[in-house]
Amino acid sequence: MREGIHPNYGPATIKCACGAIFETGSVKETINVEICSKCHPFYTGKQKLVDTGGRVEKFKKKFNIG
Ligand SMILES: [Zn+2]
Repeated sequence: MREGIHPNYGPATIKCACGAIFETGSVKETINVEICSKCHPFYTGKQKLVDTGGRVEKFKKKFNIG
């Protein structure tokens, strides 16, 4: 039996781009996500876009809106 090979599975923090923080279990201590259940339109029922890199602007230019 060798030890130190498997990462420890413990409490982890998920940080979303919207600022929401979730506690979960993972081998990673901190997980960064761009979208979560709090800001995803599917969950919120609202059309709230999370622009994390000019994607909305590119979309607008592409379709000549905004
Ligand atoms: Zn979020």
